[in-house]
Amino acid sequence: MSQLTIALTKGRILKETLPLFAAAGIEPLEDISKSRKLTFETTSPDVRFLILRGVDVPTYVEFGAADVGVSGKDMLMEHGGNSFYEPLDLNIARCRLMTAGMKGRELPKGRLKIATKFVNIAKRYYAEQGRQVDVIKLYGAMELAPVLGLADEIVDIVDTGNTLIANGLEAREEIATVSSRLIVNKASMKMKHHQIDALIDAVASAVGELAA
Ligand code: AMP
Repeated sequence: MSQLTIALTKGRILKETLPLFAAAGIEPLEDISKSRKLTFETTSPDVRFLILRGVDVPTYVEFGAADVGVSGKDMLMEHGGNSFYEPLDLNIARCRLMTAGMKGRELPKGRLKIATKFVNIAKRYYAEQGRQVDVIKLYGAMELAPVLGLADEIVDIVDTGNTLIANGLEAREEIATVSSRLIVNKASMKMKHHQIDALIDAVASAVGELAA
């Protein structure tokens, strides 16, 4: 058997991912939350986990540094292209990608200022709507931008909507529903076909059991 490297997204997605792999018989040999390591051996001798920021997972898988990855659909949309396979919806970390603005405030005519960390998604979305926009890249606290006049709208992840409400904003248009996906490097899919097929089957049945 060859070595299989699986890139996982740290944070809230990781918490929901580990039970799925555990149900498929793959568990890290150490407690990931108590370690500063970035790679972890697992109970399956041919499988190791990488623990990455979500934004980096598609890149590791695209270039084959990881064979398989777990990534939010938002990150896949922002990364763009079709440089890897996306065979399985894990149905975890569900949320929505939305536009939002100050509650009750109408959009100005003409060019809009949009603050977001999803620059590519925002450009594509507003172009489809036929709106001219200047996109301002932020790395966090998007909700502040409309409050302080930095932007007319933001594009952000919404789960309960509490963060928007707490900052005087309202959700407007839904751009996409988001959940985490299993992605696979194209060359790995050919070279490690049996191993990866078995992994997809095992994780798919764990997803099914969790939903039941
Ligand atoms: P909420 O107040 O429940 O709408 O949560 C909004 C914030 O939580 C957003 O600004 C996101 O950064 C974060 N968040 C919620 N759900 C997810 C998710 N599934 N993946 C990534 N970030 C999320």
